[in-house]
Parts: sequence; C-alpha cells; structure tokens
Amino acid sequence: MYIPEEKVSEILNTSDIVDIISESVILKKSGRNFFGLCPFHSEKTPSFSVNASKQIFHCFGCSAGGNVLSYIMKYHGITFPEAAKMLARKYNITIETKDIDPAKRKEFLLKESLFRLNKTVMGIYFDELKNSAPGNKVGDKARKYLKQRGISDDIIQQFNLGFSPDKWESIVKMLQEQKISKNIAVQCGLILGRQQKTGYYDRFRNRIMFPIFDVNMQVAGFGGRVMDDAMPKYMNSPDTPVYNKSRILYGLHAAKQFCRQTGFVYIVEGYFDFLSLYQHGIKNTVASLGTALTPDHVRILKGYAAKMVLVFDSDAAGINAAKRSIKIFLKEGVDTRVLVLPEGNDPDSYVVKHGQKAFNELAKNAKTVMQFLLQVSIDTHGLSVEGRIRILDDMKQHLILIQDSALRSLYIKDLAENLNIDEKAVLEKVREHYLNGPAKRSYLNESTKEENTLASDRREEQMISLMLNFPEIIDEIKNRDVLDCFYSEKLKRIAKKIISIDPGKEAFITDVMVKMENSEDQELIASYAMNDFVSENIHKTALSIINRIIRVRKKQQNTLTTKIKSAEKGCDSDLMELLKQKQAEIQQLHGRL
Ligand SMILES: [Zn+2]
Repeated sequence: MYIPEEKVSEILNTSDIVDIISESVILKKSGRNFFGLCPFHSEKTPSFSVNASKQIFHCFGCSAGGNVLSYIMKYHGITFPEAAKMLARKYNITIETKDIDPAKRKEFLLKESLFRLNKTVMGIYFDELKNSAPGNKVGDKARKYLKQRGISDDIIQQFNLGFSPDKWESIVKMLQEQKISKNIAVQCGLILGRQQKTGYYDRFRNRIMFPIFDVNMQVAGFGGRVMDDAMPKYMNSPDTPVYNKSRILYGLHAAKQFCRQTGFVYIVEGYFDFLSLYQHGIKNTVASLGTALTPDHVRILKGYAAKMVLVFDSDAAGINAAKRSIKIFLKEGVDTRVLVLPEGNDPDSYVVKHGQKAFNELAKNAKTVMQFLLQVSIDTHGLSVEGRIRILDDMKQHLILIQDSALRSLYIKDLAENLNIDEKAVLEKVREHYLNGPAKRSYLNESTKEENTLASDRREEQMISLMLNFPEIIDEIKNRDVLDCFYSEKLKRIAKKIISIDPGKEAFITDVMVKMENSEDQELIASYAMNDFVSENIHKTALSIINRIIRVRKKQQNTLTTKIKSAEKGCDSDLMELLKQKQAEIQQLHGRL
C-alpha cells in the first residue's frame, strides 16, 4: 500500500473529524470537546471525545483513539487505503491508486466490482417488476402481490424493489451478454455453480427482490421473498466481501436521519414490517432480517439513536425472538423497550389496520426490558411460592448481564417488590453469581494494571502530552537530550518521532499522527493530545518535568554506579553481583515495550 504522505495530509487537512464522526455518533459539545457514546465499546455515559482543533478522537473508556482516518478504518472495519479513498471521494480529492500494494488494490477493486454488479442487477430486477409491457405476465403477478400487501409505488421506487424472474439463467445470460465475469457474480452470491454439470444458475428465482443498502447507499446484497407458500419463504445474499449480515440492518440508509430526529429507533423483523411502517410515516425503523441481532448491530444503531424499541408479535416465536435479542441490549447498556403487539398482529398488519397514530400510542406504553421479561416469566411459572422461586432464577440470568450497578440495584428492588420477596434475598441470589463471574476478574486486572504504571512512565507521558499541546518546548527538549533519559523505550521511540516534525506548523498534531506506525501508537498520541493543560505557566510546568526526568535518571545511575564501584574496591563480589543484577533488572523493567 502506498498513498503519498502529502495526499494523506491533504485529506486530513480538508476533512473535519467532527463532521465525519457525527455521521455515526451523536456528539454533544461540552467545553472544548465533543462527547458521545463510544461506538467501540458498550457504555451508558459518554466517554468518547472528539476535539475539533486537534482533529483527534479519544475514548476514555476503551482507549480507542486517533485521527479521522483511524476512526473510519476502525468503524467500518476497512483498510487504510480504503479509508483514505472514502474520505477523498467525499471531499473531491483525487488519489492515484497505481502504487497501492497489489493485494490490497485487488481487494479494493473486487469490492468496487461487487458493488457495481449488485447495482446493475438491482436495475434488472427493478425493470422486471416495472415492465408492464403486454405479455409480461410474471411482472404483473409481482406487482399485484405488492399492491395486495399495501406497498405503494412510491415505496417501490424509493427502495428499488424488484422481481427475479422464474428462470434458472436470467442473471447468468445477462452476465454473458454484458461480458461480466461469472466469478464476480459467484462472489456476489447472485449465481451458483452447478453441482452435477458445468455452468451456473441464478440464486434468486421467482421472488420479490429487496436490495439491501449499506449506510453509504451502496447495494451490498439482496433479500428475496416468494409470493406463495414455497420454501424458503425468505432468502438473503450469503456473506460476501461487501455484505456482512451481522453488521447490516435493512433500511438504515433511509431511516438514519429520522432516528436522529426522534432520538429512538424501532427494530422490526421483516422487510414488509419495515416498508409498511415507513410508508405510514414511521420512518425511524430498521429491520433485522430474521438474523439474530448482534452487538455490532446495536453499536451501529447507538450512533443514530439513544433509545431502541424492539417490536415483536405476541406469538411464542415472537416472544422467544425478543428474549434472545434482549441479552445483547442489556449487555450493551442501551435504553431498550419491548413493544409486544396485540395478539394476531405483526407490525405490518397493525399499522395497515390502525394507522400511524395508534402505533405510536401503543409504543408509548412499551415495557422496559425487565418488565417484559418479568411478565413472560410470570406467565410461564405463575405466582405460587414455587413459581416465584423459578421466576427469581429466570430473572437472575438477566440481572447479571447489566453492567451498570446502580441500574441493576434498581431492578433488583423492583423485582423484590413485584414478587413480594425480601430484597436482600434477591440480592444474595444475584451476588452468588457475580462473585464467580467475569466481572470480578476484570476488576482485579484493572487494579494490577494501575499499579504497574510506573512513576517514570507517567512523567514521560506527561512530557509527550506537553510536547503535543505546547510544541514551543520541543527545542528545549532537543537541547537538553531529555529523550535519552526516558526509561520507556516505547515512549522514547514515539517522542523521537514527534521531535522530528516541524513544531511551527499549524497542523502539528495531524502531522504527528501521520508519522505514527501503527494504530496502537496513534491511540496513545490521541490520548496524550486530548490532555488540556490549565496550568498558568505552561512553560514552567514543562521545565520542571524536564528537570525531574533528567534528575531522576542521573541520580539513579549515580547511586548504582557508586555502589558498584565501592563494592568492586572492597572486593565484595556478592554485593557487586547483586547490584549489577539490580541495575539490569531496572533497565529491563523500564525498557519493556
Ligand atoms: Zn470506547
């Protein structure tokens, strides 16, 4: 991979990190920084910060950090050149991709051609549905079917619905005619190789087609539904380099702005549920497409809405699906409600029958996750003494998933009241589980990590932080060889890179970031740069840290050297051995990466 450094700088200087991150995270200004819920770990209170003047982001919770390019790479799970290209396209900057590493370039081009083919095929399916020329009986049937399901022409148009003809080689023939590689179509999941003989056949036949867009409005895959009772009822594209079912949600590309406006999102299961709600003005909706919701789905949605409403049918299948999904929402700490529709309804039929207003009214009374789970458990076990014990066991499984301890204790109190059991007994039940659970282990890890951070590391980190925020002191640092007194090899390496950059430039931190070799170093730079120094006399602070770093290093060296020398003189070989060992240990300790 090679994108010239000046191109990278041009991209970084043109783009605005607050704008870009705002596309996927709700940011609120507070002081000099913007804060939001981190898209990279689960949290309830924002610790993810973005600084506009430094053009960096940093999460105080999980330490993710970097510049706008590292954000895009991490968020979309793409490579550096892909991220650079994505931003360049947005800001109309041209990049020559000739010099990119052949493997990466191949991957990039493959994705582009998969998207392109999907778009072409979307057009073909769309035409098959729209084409009302006499003799096209099949398209007729599909149109009638959609009409009978209440889907308007506007919705068909907006979501590019289509129809895959009842033929084995309709797409295969098109590929031949347009001289498009079959291999690409196989990788797209549009055609399959025949098992018995040579040749290929279409995956989607005789189905209503739903193109699935990613948030950047590119056609990532398809879903197809039969119009009768044939099985399978629904068929989706397999996972491909551009379609990852655990990250994609149907309709998010259209719903995202409405999720932002309202602050919440309805999550339904099927295409028709989504389209019906959307058509009836309930546009802050996405569909999970029958696949189980994943933590990635929830994290992506968190970027658009703080509250989520899971909408389910009241039948057993619906209740079970709700129970399965809820675990993920509890773990991710999202404010989630569960809306179970009145018996015999799905979101589609309900909104068609009763309209937008009634649906919104119903949603207002959606249960909290715990209320919902409790109700399900009461319905199952009843409120006898044995029943209540079973309910307590049921609820324990869910309570332990809640990371926020304050919230958990509120639920425990609530549960005790509902079951008429002593709160302490409930607490005891949950605690049993907790003491052996992973929560305790991670707590222990954290405290040992804290203790291991050496005082010297903290001083050196402070020094780097000052260099980034107050580049005027870099000359002083160079003149006094401060970096040679660093104990941490890693921090020394990073600091040396920083002093190699012209501190007079306006985009100093941006340039520093570009020089970092890996994402770990970028994360460190972001966290150090995020520091705001409120000191009255920053120069004085800097000088005192410089002095301290030099003094400590010299003093320790002197003490040990003196002791070794006097031990040598007195021929105390045991002590000498011990001291040398100690010196080596200290060097090793501080030199660790
Ligand atoms: Zn985080």
